[in-house]
Amino acid sequence: METKPKILVSKCLGFDACRWNGVIIEEQFIKKLSDFVEFITVCPEVEIGLGVPRDRIRIIKKNGEYFLIQYKTEKDITKVMENFSKKFLKKIEKENIDGVILKDRSPSCGIKDVKIFSDKNVVVQKGSGFFAKDVVNTFTNIPVESEGRLNNLYLKENFLTKVFLISRFRNLKKEMKELVKFHSQNKYLFLSYNQKMLRELGTIVANLKKEDVEKVFKRYGETLLSGLKKNYRKNSYYNTLLHIFGYFKDSLKKEEKNFILKNIEDFKNDKVGLLTTLILLKSYVIRFDIDYLKEQTIFKPFPEELI
Ligand code: SF4
Repeated sequence: METKPKILVSKCLGFDACRWNGVIIEEQFIKKLSDFVEFITVCPEVEIGLGVPRDRIRIIKKNGEYFLIQYKTEKDITKVMENFSKKFLKKIEKENIDGVILKDRSPSCGIKDVKIFSDKNVVVQKGSGFFAKDVVNTFTNIPVESEGRLNNLYLKENFLTKVFLISRFRNLKKEMKELVKFHSQNKYLFLSYNQKMLRELGTIVANLKKEDVEKVFKRYGETLLSGLKKNYRKNSYYNTLLHIFGYFKDSLKKEEKNFILKNIEDFKNDKVGLLTTLILLKSYVIRFDIDYLKEQTIFKPFPEELI
């Protein structure tokens, strides 16, 4: 059985009623995800001893500097939050997590769009929460998303694809034959994300200099993670789908061909989701028994139940 990816998540997103007002946020996607991933939860505000319920906190900008202030009591918790974040993230870094989901707009967990106030309590700009800022700076090579952005299908597909791919790579046995198989099975997925990365990974896995396995895995991992920083571009995915279609198009009736081509066009024009088109293509891969394609992870980058 495939090892579950590890995801760091804001605790109030369905795990604990730890919001300032004692509320829990029921997030359907995260609930679904919990069957397929291992969650590591954290509530930075509770961790620094603020308790539930608690007075709200705000980011205040004063003389060009940012402070985390408990608004009613004017208690400054900037340092205590900074210390907690650094200590906690140092510990979590060792856990090899594959992704992060944080609560939107919170002065602690919000990745962006967090209201920042002047000392006269007027919103002067928007920015990152104190904990989220450190998360983003610590985990530069894994997907970090807010729960709100994951309502967008394209962002969700990208997040899930990357998280499951990174986890699969990290859990490979450190043997060359495992890496060669991984590379071969992911060829079309890599092609959809980043052609340059596919070429570089191909060179690394060919290992012409006969470097030792550990070194090869390290270089492969670094290239993979940095190549996955960007989301897939519709056009690259579109070209990959056409490429796959090319394997069996000559064996199809005109009507079938047109139907598939329309579906691929519909994907490009945002009329159908990626998984719909992939499932359609996969059905032909099975029908024509194309073993090499059957093994490609592009057809199942993550469990279908998650979309
Ligand atoms: S947003 Fe972060 S700090 Fe606020 S309740 Fe949720 S987990 Fe805790």
